[in-house]
Amino acid sequence: MTTSAETHRTTESKTNGGVTATATSSGATQTQAPPGTTESKTADRPDMHTVLKTMRAAHKASPAPTYEERIASLDKLEAALLAHKEDIVRAISTDFGNRSRHESLVSEVFVVVGAIKHARDHLRDWMEPEGREVAWAFLPASAEVQMQPLGVVGIIAPWNYPIQLGLSPLVGALAAGNRVMIKPSELTPSASDVLDQIVREVFKPDHVAVITGGPEVGEEFSKLPFDHLVFTGSTRVGKIVMRNASEHLTPVTLELGGKSPTIIGDDFAIEEAALRIIAGKAFNAGQTCIAPDYVFVPAKKVEAFIAGCKKAVAKLYPDLRRNEDYTTIVNERHFDRLRGYLDDAREKGAHIIELADAEADRATRKMGPILVVQPREDTVVMQEEIFGPILPILAYEKLDDVIDYVNEHPRPLALYYFGYDQSQIDRVLERTVSGGVSINETMLHVAQDDLPFGGVGPSGMGHYHAHEGFVAFSKKKPVFYQSRLNARSLLLPPYGKAANMFFRLTLGK
Ligand code: NAD
Repeated sequence: MTTSAETHRTTESKTNGGVTATATSSGATQTQAPPGTTESKTADRPDMHTVLKTMRAAHKASPAPTYEERIASLDKLEAALLAHKEDIVRAISTDFGNRSRHESLVSEVFVVVGAIKHARDHLRDWMEPEGREVAWAFLPASAEVQMQPLGVVGIIAPWNYPIQLGLSPLVGALAAGNRVMIKPSELTPSASDVLDQIVREVFKPDHVAVITGGPEVGEEFSKLPFDHLVFTGSTRVGKIVMRNASEHLTPVTLELGGKSPTIIGDDFAIEEAALRIIAGKAFNAGQTCIAPDYVFVPAKKVEAFIAGCKKAVAKLYPDLRRNEDYTTIVNERHFDRLRGYLDDAREKGAHIIELADAEADRATRKMGPILVVQPREDTVVMQEEIFGPILPILAYEKLDDVIDYVNEHPRPLALYYFGYDQSQIDRVLERTVSGGVSINETMLHVAQDDLPFGGVGPSGMGHYHAHEGFVAFSKKKPVFYQSRLNARSLLLPPYGKAANMFFRLTLGK
């Protein structure tokens, strides 16, 4: 059953998803789903509370899926993902207006398949209990740490990579032997349909389920007594989710956003830096949590950097108007938000340079990469996460001033440094704290299957991906095995000579 909250969508999703809308007497907009969408298909499904209850009962009946069962789940998920890859490409393009096919294949399919393969290759080791030391006084007892499935994990996902950010945490949670409920974003309803279809093809409803809906459904979902909750989205909503989860002391992994700084060192070829930074910024039209948000350029190289950015855009996206490799802004609200950022920067004296051969167009929501040169600190582009193809450029003289700037701002999700001088690299790595780092690149640390991923402070808490994901979705259970032969009686009251001898041996006189 879909609750009324679940069919409550925003204006943007109506335009994207073709969902019909009716206004309620309260003035709120309520929607009715057309036949064939997730909402209409889920109309006769159990509500989220019932789904959780069913999953809990199933977990109780079968609390420890075997290695073979987990591998089978991962295999089936991989096969379905590959079988539906063109559906994914089409659905996200429908939701966005245009999403580059190659960007969808790499970010929604390749990355998840990589995570599945990595989990499959390492699962046996990860599941193996880990022997631990026992102090001599307790020998010949033994101890180990077991990795136990937690039970039911909740996942709340955003719209910008709607398949990856639903399925990537799912891979870790399944590898760790859990059952999972996923709440995707209301802004990408076609992608949610495909996600739902994949999940229903592969899993029984008491194993993995998709719950659709907007913020109200998200609120209700985050109040469920999950054994762990993964939230990917904005820092603002992350705080609400953590507050809701605290009611049941549900542990949370928060994958949030923020402003990821990029620094070009003095020794790096400026044109090549421009190409790599533009490639990172323009991917998904900048709608990426770890997109390079703004860039510090050595003062004497600013003009050369701007020229390099122009050249990079001309090379990567010629004829932008008809270019299918370039993704559009997800909806009009976000398009207007970004235009507002530019107006604000212009009013406050920054120089705006549109890099593409076509101006930003509200009708198609295509907005090519745009530079904002030397914006003031009080501009919105320097205060808010940009989440679009706008790149502020700040000139600098001394690297230490840049490090101070980064440290005076909220700890970012990612940081990028371009340079080959190892002492400078070490200086940046040691003196700044960020969720992750790529050196001489942007964004690629997230694509490494063996690296953990997660923010720090306002950009998030906890990690997933790699072994850290498996650990996050497991209870690390310490187990002590007393030996049949043991000296336990020596340490029982009434304490006498043996106990005194024990303390003389362990603690001294
Ligand atoms: P959002 O916070 O608006 O929404 C994310 C999800 O939360 C959606 O499913 C939404 O329906 C749900 N939600 C909304 N209000 C809620 C509430 N009150 N209670 C519970 N759930 C609620 O974020 P968004 O606009 O979808 O995504 C953009 C943000 O996500 C950016 O800040 C970006 O940096 C961040 N992000 C982070 C990562 C990461 O891995 N760290 C990845 C992608 C995006």
